Amino acid sequence: MSKKIPIAVPQGSKWCHGCQQVKPVQSFWIDRSKKDGRHYCCIRCGDRKALERAERGRMMNEVFLRVGRG
Ligand SMILES: [Zn+2]
Repeated sequence: MSKKIPIAVPQGSKWCHGCQQVKPVQSFWIDRSKKDGRHYCCIRCGDRKALERAERGRMMNEVFLRVGRG
């Protein structure tokens, strides 16, 4: 393994590069382009990114609403 992971990862688990901890492989998105078939970060980290995007979208909406209201 070439990537630096601070602890030993047991079988059936995977190191999440997003939250920097070991999680069961079931907690990772399936990514068939990857060698191990799973995304490098877990679903929660992926969700966080999606949430950030949604949050930004909502803020934009609020700005538009405020402007619309005058
Ligand atoms: Zn994570």
